[in-house]
Amino acid sequence: MSLIKEYPISIFNSLTKEKEVFEPLIKDKVGMYVCGPTVYSDVHLGNVRTFMSFDIVFRYLKYLGYAVRYVRNITDVGHLVGDADEGEDKIAKKARLEELEPMEVVQKYTNGFHAVMRMFNIQEPSIEPTATGHIIEQIEFIKTIIGNGYAYETDGSVYFDVRKYHQDHEYGKLSGRNIDDMLSNTRTLSGQDQKRDPLDFALWKRADAGHLMQWPSPWGNGFPGWHLECSVMSTKYLGTTFDIHAGGMDLKFPHHEAEIAQNQGCCSKGGARYWMHANMLTVEGRKMAKSEGNGFTPEQLLTGNHKLLERGYSAMTVRFFMLMSHYASTLDFSNESLQAAEKGYKRLMVALKLSEKLPEPGTGKMDKEQSKDFKAPIDKAFTDLSNDFNTAKAIASLFDMASKINIIYQDPKKAASIDPKDFDWSIMHFQGIIKDVLGLHDETQEEGGMQVLDGVMKMVMELRKQAKFSKDYALSDQIRDDLKAKGVQIKDEKDGGMSYTID
Ligand code: AMP
Ligand code: ZN
Repeated sequence: MSLIKEYPISIFNSLTKEKEVFEPLIKDKVGMYVCGPTVYSDVHLGNVRTFMSFDIVFRYLKYLGYAVRYVRNITDVGHLVGDADEGEDKIAKKARLEELEPMEVVQKYTNGFHAVMRMFNIQEPSIEPTATGHIIEQIEFIKTIIGNGYAYETDGSVYFDVRKYHQDHEYGKLSGRNIDDMLSNTRTLSGQDQKRDPLDFALWKRADAGHLMQWPSPWGNGFPGWHLECSVMSTKYLGTTFDIHAGGMDLKFPHHEAEIAQNQGCCSKGGARYWMHANMLTVEGRKMAKSEGNGFTPEQLLTGNHKLLERGYSAMTVRFFMLMSHYASTLDFSNESLQAAEKGYKRLMVALKLSEKLPEPGTGKMDKEQSKDFKAPIDKAFTDLSNDFNTAKAIASLFDMASKINIIYQDPKKAASIDPKDFDWSIMHFQGIIKDVLGLHDETQEEGGMQVLDGVMKMVMELRKQAKFSKDYALSDQIRDDLKAKGVQIKDEKDGGMSYTID
């Protein structure tokens, strides 16, 4: 049953700087676009935070009953070192340094990104388009912007004319920058510069013969500017006006500001109606970033193999740690807060397990007040989540529910006065919010499964050892081969022992 009407969502809209009631363009349907990664290096935990924040939005919208089309792109061309219009393409640079094809770099880090998303139980989007897969659409988009008078060509490159655009529209609205000041303060360009104004940004860049990634265009061989792909792919899959556009706070300017201008410049519509920005994961107050040397990878986090880590932490502990703060606040990484999160996560998992073993409700005289009181924390958790996806508050409400579950588990008589309808509703959504909205699952059960497997494998290896000892090589080989067929490799060690690995 749909909960859309019961728990109306409000979103802090970065465009209007106000919390607004969320009304999708089409009833009960949502189109959402999130800027994806530039796949030239391993993702770090900061990137994970941003994608997790919008995973919650995706999951919660679906949980309430919306049909969601979620588009999250892969940037595989056009993002230059330095994030502006000069310098080498990040992917081409990596390809040159590692002597790989650019598409090998793209594949390697796209695979890595997907593995990390799976590790943290971040769901796949509905569409994951790539910039290189939409070169034709990007060229068409540029042609329309030029036709509308908001872009110009110089020497094989095409630039967006910010000054011209700002005469008709408001450039800087999203990021809150005073563009009039910026335009009057910027240095005058010398005749050698290709841009008319330093604020102008590239829609298309001319490529020299040696440039690794280039395509033919009406302006000669080149490649698209970084901001363009998101305008093009969001409008292609979601329309010229759509519901939600999201990304990390650091993308507000120039990336998202440029996107809005491109959309207006091409289609006379600004694209998204609600803009959401996730705040940064910091380490000792500084943004986690590769360039800062404070960005550890998820693998390092699990193993504890990094100077910032006292020990390893599980993926679900990290997920819980991130959800303990609201997406719009900065989140500072520390070993203490991860250890606190680990305790909280385990407590919630205990309550989740108990919630499956509760006594029958409503066996005695039903009490309206008590039933209402039992429901209250879940009702509150929905209100928290509908209030700009406040996972921090929702987790506090879930802990209130966990206490109630604990009490009933200890004293089953207390379930007797609760209306079974309210009881079942509360337990169903307690489990649903934890598993489906927050995306938390019980790792201890998986660990338990691994322990059982390990015990069984030790037994099998012992049997094989005995077979070898009694010179029954046919049996020992058969055990080895059968296990291999099932994806388990047994290795004979020099000291006569055995070990195993799972493919
Ligand atoms: P990139 O691959 O650099 O384009 O980044 C992918 C996403 O991660 C973008 O939405 C960034 O805003 C986001 N991001 C980068 N660093 C951090 C950080 N320290 N905390 C949160 N999000 C980040
Ligand atoms: Zn983008």
